[in-house]
Amino acid sequence: MSESPDLPEKTEPTGTTPGGGAAALPEPFPSDWTRCLVLVAHPDDPEYGMSAAVARWTAEGRSVVYVLASSGEAGIEGMSPAIAGPIREEEQRRSSAVVGVDEVEFLGFPDSRIVNNAALRDAIADAIRRHRPDIVVSLYSGPEFGPGMPNQSDHMEFGAAVGAAYDDLVAAVGVDAAEGRPQMWFESAPGPTHYVEVTGFVEPAVEALAQHSEYLSVLDPATPVREQARRQVEAVCAPIEGIAGGNPVVGFRRMRP
Ligand SMILES: [Zn+2]
Repeated sequence: MSESPDLPEKTEPTGTTPGGGAAALPEPFPSDWTRCLVLVAHPDDPEYGMSAAVARWTAEGRSVVYVLASSGEAGIEGMSPAIAGPIREEEQRRSSAVVGVDEVEFLGFPDSRIVNNAALRDAIADAIRRHRPDIVVSLYSGPEFGPGMPNQSDHMEFGAAVGAAYDDLVAAVGVDAAEGRPQMWFESAPGPTHYVEVTGFVEPAVEALAQHSEYLSVLDPATPVREQARRQVEAVCAPIEGIAGGNPVVGFRRMRP
């Protein structure tokens, strides 16, 4: 569901481990790929976490497709799902276009009631087979973004389904990449293993999130939509000390292989 913002501010990925040693710094995101499939639960999920990176990727000539489990129809308080669903789909299409994503699909699973079941896994596997991505990127599926910041059930169930579908597909195809299985799976997640420097792409990401204007204006009526968008995107793209020369970055966690 989307009654609250999907991603709180970026949590610091670095610092010290429980043993006192320094955690490893994230590495630059791989560049040896051309096709990316972004799989998420709801409209606005890409914009809350990763669209600055997507803007860079499409500017570099890479292909990015969005596939969303739901239409976010339960996400606008006081609005019936039948009305909210089409509005949110339209906002997502506008938002995607801002960062160069022209292909957006909605799988029709129920917002706020997403379950990692066979139907969902099949639909995800089908999307991967149809789009033949080199890499798959999805939203964080862990239990909490940080202490006291629990993740949403939809995100956790969906992420688990992505992992299961990915593993099944790889097991079915084997290690031979001739059939076009994805080579990697990343989550847009706290504690990243990889980063994309997004200098010059923060503004398009703000613009993209601001396209969710109906949603954001109900979520926080007191704060102008663009200001909400800017706060969120700048928090997510905050520089990480020691990498990218202090420039804005988006972090990802490598899940497979
Ligand atoms: Zn969401």
